[in-house]
Amino acid sequence: MQVFSLWEKQSFLEADIIVVGAGITGLSAAATLKEQSPELRVTVLERGVLPTGASTKNAGFACFGSVSELLNDVEALGAEGMVSLVEKRWDGLQKSCQRLGRSMIDIQVKSGYELIFDEKSEVVNKIGSINELLADFFQDDVFKLSDEKINSFGFGQTHHLIENHLEGQLDTGRLIASLWKYCAEIGVQVHTGCEVLDIQEEASSVRINCKDVQFTAGKVAVCTNAFTNKLLKKELDVSPGRGIVMSIVPDEKLKFEGTFHYEEGYYYFRDYYGKLLFGGGRNLALAEEETTEFGINEKIKAKLISDLESIILPNQSYQVEMEWTGIMAFGKTKAPIVQKVSERIAMGVRLGGMGVAIGSLVGEEVAELILRD
Ligand SMILES: Cc1cc2nc3c(=O)[nH]c(=O)nc-3n(C[C@H](O)[C@H](O)[C@H](O)COP(=O)(O)OP(=O)(O)OC[C@H]3O[C@@H](n4cnc5c(N)ncnc54)[C@H](O)[C@@H]3O)c2cc1C
Repeated sequence: MQVFSLWEKQSFLEADIIVVGAGITGLSAAATLKEQSPELRVTVLERGVLPTGASTKNAGFACFGSVSELLNDVEALGAEGMVSLVEKRWDGLQKSCQRLGRSMIDIQVKSGYELIFDEKSEVVNKIGSINELLADFFQDDVFKLSDEKINSFGFGQTHHLIENHLEGQLDTGRLIASLWKYCAEIGVQVHTGCEVLDIQEEASSVRINCKDVQFTAGKVAVCTNAFTNKLLKKELDVSPGRGIVMSIVPDEKLKFEGTFHYEEGYYYFRDYYGKLLFGGGRNLALAEEETTEFGINEKIKAKLISDLESIILPNQSYQVEMEWTGIMAFGKTKAPIVQKVSERIAMGVRLGGMGVAIGSLVGEEVAELILRD
């Protein structure tokens, strides 16, 4: 342990509330705590130099589910459960936009599309029923068939395109950078390079041990998503799921704009200022991808390259500019876990594959749980 001064201890190592994890959930929790109780000293501890989980590693989809994903949600959660999940995703996106400003996170609504490869797919017949379920909330049809765009987009193997005119895309780096800046402006301290090894609750405070430094707080919010079991030394229903994203520079101008998904959202691609961001394929190797280690699975990459050349950019040349992975968290249900761990510790974790959308709401919920008790 390093030896710190009285001044350092008072001003940096003690807080009323410490949030562990500086992803979208942790930073949103810290922002909510300060917004609702400005007098509180709120500190965020992040293990990486930058957030090192999912929030700065995804492809920046501002989405709330394709028709096939929502049909799955109806099966798993019932119609009401699906609608409630969509409402949360939508409200979460609006919350980020309101707090940070649409231009700060570069949100652009250019429509989202689901590619359907089976000519007689049942999903196409279910567009009306999903629209009906969502009608009360959106007061408008969300999904429609846009098969006439397939040729102009240049896609191979695609028989149907289902368009969602409300779906958008954002700059996930700017989202987190703006949230971080906002937190700093309202008085939240964020310390990076602080991996929390252990959290010990005592009678009137909590001790948070990192490698060289110990923090003390009145309460702790754990927002470590896929890494929660390791930190809390528990076996919660939180399983990691690794996802890959590639940045691709096509030699010709892209023929499409917007966000795109196929195979129930397991594959996703979008335009980004003339480039293509493409990823997914976790379903090819679910067991192998249930890991908290970053790294490229060559089998998945090969499938993505094959789909790129046959479906997305057929007969076009391109270069793979960058590739990276991020770690999501899944469980038996799609609902995040927002609950108390003990008297002074609460968690907001397991954001699944749509945490860009719900992260700000989950952060708000865990902050309110901490403030309430
Ligand atoms: C490839 C990919 C594609 C995705 N696509 C989409 C999409 O299209 N739409 C969508 O809405 N969502 C998408 N997501 C999911 C979304 O990014 C996540 O659900 C969301 O970012 C989770 O945010 P979080 O803050 O809860 O977790 P994270 O961003 O993982 O943040 C947790 C933080 O905790 C830190 N941490 C962990 N352990 C410790 C410790 N012991 N001490 C200190 N810090 C610690 C980590 O370093 C990390 O920064 C995607 C994710 C990936 C990886």
